Amino acid sequence: MTRIAELRKILLRKKLDALLVTGSANRNYLSGFTGSTAFLVVSLKSALFVTDSRYIEQAGKEISPEFELAQVKSAKEYNGAIADLVKKDKVRVMAVEAGNLVVSQFETLKKYLPKKELRPQTGLVEGLREIKTKEELEKIRKAVDIAEKAFQITVKRIRPGISENEVAAELEYNMRLLGSERAAFPTIVASGKRGALPHGVATDKKLNKGELIVLDFGAVYKGYCSDLTRTIGLGIIVRQFKNHYKMVYEAQQKAISSISSGVLLSFPDKKARNYLKKHRLAEFFTHGLGHGLGMEVHERPSINNVAKGFFQAGMVVTVEPGVYLKGQYGIRIENDIIVKEKGCKVLGKDQQKLVIL
Ligand code: ZN
Ligand code: ZN
Repeated sequence: MTRIAELRKILLRKKLDALLVTGSANRNYLSGFTGSTAFLVVSLKSALFVTDSRYIEQAGKEISPEFELAQVKSAKEYNGAIADLVKKDKVRVMAVEAGNLVVSQFETLKKYLPKKELRPQTGLVEGLREIKTKEELEKIRKAVDIAEKAFQITVKRIRPGISENEVAAELEYNMRLLGSERAAFPTIVASGKRGALPHGVATDKKLNKGELIVLDFGAVYKGYCSDLTRTIGLGIIVRQFKNHYKMVYEAQQKAISSISSGVLLSFPDKKARNYLKKHRLAEFFTHGLGHGLGMEVHERPSINNVAKGFFQAGMVVTVEPGVYLKGQYGIRIENDIIVKEKGCKVLGKDQQKLVIL
């Protein structure tokens, strides 16, 4: 079944006549379009792709033949084209993406469609994106591979006195050279005390001997992201850091070994947290265990101790326990995981050994 056909099944089930797609990843997923400005309207009867002169040629090459392609000249005409389809297909209730439509667009659209109901919805397309096809899995594998290789090259250049920014720049440069379209997100290089900031993007702080360095980075290959975190040491590393690293690694392994199709999404987080609790580190594990990964670096499902639902074969998620000791240091280890019918497959290298440069 095509993605559009799957979406129509959801629309029918939810008694919606159409969906206006405004989120760029959702738009790309359904149509194949990789540009940045276009609207999709999928009704039960038709599928319309609207863009302007900047993207019309690209759209003609990229989009699925299921879509009728229309060109508009101005922002106003976008609304007109949507309204025309709504009238033609006798749409009464059109869903809009609550997370991907700004209020001003929503208000304008209401004026164009005074007698229709615009119903904000979340997760209609995102739900379809949770389970990856073989082709999508291949792209994610490749994105992981690129990030992993770029890291191996970059590590050789890390030494005391080099700044976090320089490390991030090298890492992103190497990912690009290896085929990444861009960095999947601003690269995190957090050294020493800054390691205690779970999302400490790189600064001009210089790396010092004796520090742990948290690097969180990802590549994008054919629209699909990877997301890895490595913690390394520089110079002589005190025993406490090494012990805590070992515990974070063990927590990650406990979580990974519990993942399989049919398991509660909240289970691996509990596994990791319970392990860290035994070692009096749970209070320093201040975020959820992981998240879904695909066209966006954070997508469904969330993997934390309150997550609802079950793992299903074909999901791709991150497993990234960490401990953050304020004013001291941080440790995080993150790998990407493909959920299988039985168990799961870990992408990216095992991080059992703390790399000390
Ligand atoms: Zn990450
Ligand atoms: Zn992550």
